[in-house]
Amino acid sequence: MLKIISTIGFLVTIGLFLNSDITVEILFVINIFFIIIFFYNPVSALKSAQRVSSEVAETKFGKNELQEFFINQIEDIIIILNKFNIITYINKSGTENFGTNLEGNHIGSEIRIPDLLDAIDQNKIDKKIKKIDIELTIPVFKFYKISVSSIKSDHTLIIIRDFTEMRKSQNMRSDFIANASHELRTPLVSLKGFLETITDSAKDDPKSQQKFLEIMKSEANKMEVLIEELMALSRIELQEHIRPKDKVDIKEMLENVILLNSKKIKEKKISVVLEINDKERYVIGDREKLSAVFLNLLDNAIKYSGSSKTITIKNSENKNNLINYAAISVIDEGFGIAPQDIPRITERFFRADNVKKLKIDGTGLGLAITKHIINQHKGEIKILSKEGKGSEFIVLLPLFN
Ligand code: ADP
Repeated sequence: MLKIISTIGFLVTIGLFLNSDITVEILFVINIFFIIIFFYNPVSALKSAQRVSSEVAETKFGKNELQEFFINQIEDIIIILNKFNIITYINKSGTENFGTNLEGNHIGSEIRIPDLLDAIDQNKIDKKIKKIDIELTIPVFKFYKISVSSIKSDHTLIIIRDFTEMRKSQNMRSDFIANASHELRTPLVSLKGFLETITDSAKDDPKSQQKFLEIMKSEANKMEVLIEELMALSRIELQEHIRPKDKVDIKEMLENVILLNSKKIKEKKISVVLEINDKERYVIGDREKLSAVFLNLLDNAIKYSGSSKTITIKNSENKNNLINYAAISVIDEGFGIAPQDIPRITERFFRADNVKKLKIDGTGLGLAITKHIINQHKGEIKILSKEGKGSEFIVLLPLFN
């Protein structure tokens, strides 16, 4: 339509120019106007206007989405409350920790941490940022660092940072130092006591002196074993990420392990049966470290069994669905482990009450070292036991193909 109007207008002005005294300048200006109208396309103009506005809208939408994306990437829990302490916003990390559909509910009914609620109330009064540390033990151990601050229109911003893992490792480290010092202190105190006796009340009694010296020797040996195990534990912890690659002949290695324990085996009149099939004879590993694993398992099987019992070392069918793994069981007929102690016996320094009562020596570090070595080999250890009947330690190791 605009094209027809502009063409007619264009022709009429040319006609006027030819038939009247209209000037060239006026003709030029008028025709420029009609040419513009001729080429003007209202549909495409509308479309391009729409495009520009939708681009603007898209950028705005994109920005919000981006902000939401970033907030949800943050591991910190972010919660916003209105002036009535109703949750108006909680990010993804918050819903993962405290549950979904919290928005619209009162903070006190969803997150029952009294110190947090106090901090929110205090912040409402003095508007000063509050920083608190919270340690929860129920239902699971949690350690949070929380900041509570005011934002516009009487809203409250709560940022909760989860420091649980860091706290756990701090606790583990301090427990470890406390346990190690305690275990070393006990023989040291006894050594000092006997030294004093020898140089004081027993100084003229060679018979007692000899007896005390024997005890001192045994206490010094205990300290030596403990220090060696502590060093072994720290070495294996440092190397845990390095995966051994050698081909290890498990059968030959186990024969050697049995030989190394032959004195104790004879003393307790224990019979040891070894049955390793050829299909599961070679594994990927470090011979020395795997020897340490089975030396410890066999040593425990002997130590925690009565005399004249049988210890069997053989392949197991119990493989936890692991394909291409060898499963080697060390089975004893000893004192066994109480069900509640089974998950704890690979913890450092843990010793079950039944063996402590029997006054059997040990450091509680052997199975912790064993577990680290097996982890380093990308293997697994499973423990089955019945108190009074015996135990089975199944070690899974990747086969060498
Ligand atoms: P240690 O033998 O020096 O105490 P370990 O770490 O080797 O340390 O073992 C930890 C605990 O696990 C032992 O103190 C004992 O309570 C229990 N345990 C290990 N092996 C056996 C077993 N074969 N039979 C019964 N209890 C065992």
